[in-house]
Amino acid sequence: MTIEIPAHVAEIIDRLEAAGHSAYAVGGSLRDAILGIPPHDWDITTSSLPEETASLFPDKHVIPTGIKHGTVTVVNNGDPIEVTTYRVDGEYTDSRRPDSVSFTTSIEDDLSRRDFTVNAMAYSEKRGLVDLFGGREDLRRGIIRAVGDPEKRFTEDALRIMRAFRFSAQLDFEIEENTLRAALKLGGRLKNIAAERISSELLRLLGSVAAGRALASMGTILREILPVSLPTDRLCLVDSLKRDGIARLALLLHGRTAEEISSVASSLKLSGEQKKRLSLLALAEPPEDSSGPSLRRFLRALGDDAPKAAAMLALLGSAPHSLEADLLTEAALSPCVSVGGLAVGGRDLIAEGIASGPSVGHILSLLLEAVIDDPSLNEKQLLIDAARELVDHHE
Ligand code: ATP
Ligand code: MG
Repeated sequence: MTIEIPAHVAEIIDRLEAAGHSAYAVGGSLRDAILGIPPHDWDITTSSLPEETASLFPDKHVIPTGIKHGTVTVVNNGDPIEVTTYRVDGEYTDSRRPDSVSFTTSIEDDLSRRDFTVNAMAYSEKRGLVDLFGGREDLRRGIIRAVGDPEKRFTEDALRIMRAFRFSAQLDFEIEENTLRAALKLGGRLKNIAAERISSELLRLLGSVAAGRALASMGTILREILPVSLPTDRLCLVDSLKRDGIARLALLLHGRTAEEISSVASSLKLSGEQKKRLSLLALAEPPEDSSGPSLRRFLRALGDDAPKAAAMLALLGSAPHSLEADLLTEAALSPCVSVGGLAVGGRDLIAEGIASGPSVGHILSLLLEAVIDDPSLNEKQLLIDAARELVDHHE
């Protein structure tokens, strides 16, 4: 079997081989290459020790990414390639990280420590495919299966439980029965894993092609990792929404209180921006009616996420399916739904002597209200007149 390894990756393998080592493309990059998906980053595994690997590439930029764990990054053609020494993991005492790693000269040992059969293959042009656990067959059949005894592997490192569901969602693969059983049994061990790592896996899962099915197979694990329980009848709806982890999470949380949404955001350690989007979407209410001002108010409130909010509300049955199209039409016809879209800015109001300082912002927001009610007002002179009137009226 021939697998396409790009020239800049093969070059690194060849140089390691020329120095008397064995070396292979490995892991997720190989998995994706076999599936015909361009890998986002290539990993190489080799018998060469990290210091020697580094010394073999004096003509390239080499980053000592994790010498202790055997990894150096060789930048070739601008592409960072991780080169890691064959490794076996030491004892795991906390379901988290091995207490130590040790290097080995055996590719078989290195592949045995990897999580799933589809991630545990190695390939080089010279040596062909090393597939000790039936990874190729599982790839063909669409199966995520733990390497070795699943209970033991999930006990060693509980993050693998989340990874199983994430790969299932990402590749649209089924989790093999014993692997799934073990994952569900040991889900409680995710408590030992840093929230950021769980969150990153969950958001990747949510943003994947088959998120609904993976969520549905997670059983009580969702409750382990989130402070609220999710409605099971909504899980399968997420795939109908565009691939966006935050928007799909909002779909699952829609109708909850602001406090509940905020507690989910905190437990997942979302960034400020992610949290803002989640709250806005999960608290979104449909427009009151299908008139222009109503649609424009919705566009103003939801900003760039308005189409996603519309799709979400339609899926939940609280808005008509035509809402998204209506919003897009409305946005094209009357594009001013934010202060930035007004035909006047703060400077104009100051230059005209209408306002100064903090009141500028207030007047602009009142002008926006007026333009949302009547878009034909969005012309410079009309707005300046309107602003004068507002100020006079106020005094
Ligand atoms: P992706 O890059 O899309 O997340 P990947 O399979 O490349 O998928 P990485 O986290 O980049 O995942 O890891 C590279 C490889 O290292 C995996 O394919 C797997 O062989 C191994 N690996 C990664 N994390 C673990 C783990 N927690 N337990 C065992 N093996 C792992
Ligand atoms: Mg990877």
